[in-house]
Amino acid sequence: MDDDFSSHLTDADFMAIAVLLAQKSYDEGGCPIGAVIVNNATNKIIGKGHNTLTQENHPYNHGETSAIRDAGRIDFSQTTLYTSLCPCVVCATLVYMRGFSRVVVGDITNALGTEALLQEQGVQVDILEDQQGIELYARFRAEKPEQDLEDWQGLSAVQK
Ligand SMILES: [Zn+2]
Repeated sequence: MDDDFSSHLTDADFMAIAVLLAQKSYDEGGCPIGAVIVNNATNKIIGKGHNTLTQENHPYNHGETSAIRDAGRIDFSQTTLYTSLCPCVVCATLVYMRGFSRVVVGDITNALGTEALLQEQGVQVDILEDQQGIELYARFRAEKPEQDLEDWQGLSAVQK
């Protein structure tokens, strides 16, 4: 991406990319949650990822952890994380422990509850509901309720 193109990308554009990553995961048979990390100064994407619970047989690699891993060992204090679904407690904790300045959440219809946790730790939280992402996650939850539950609470919750 050239600098001029990047500088014109909006929050809604980055959220649309996070939702495309969620769609990729859904198409792979996984949980449809995606995330991108953007450098606040350059407006460029420096990390991206999606949930890999089923694809990697990974019990906790969420969209957010996947994007953070992709970005690598950088200073996150001048970055924004865009996630297609409201973060779980583990991801919200990782976000403030790594010092992100801002999180943009694309879906508080299917999940919510960690905005206050992030705000209390000094992270700016903005809600930017993406209708396509909301519909995708709702479809996944209706089709694969056990996979959804496992992603949030583990197999012990599914076996109850
Ligand atoms: Zn998570």
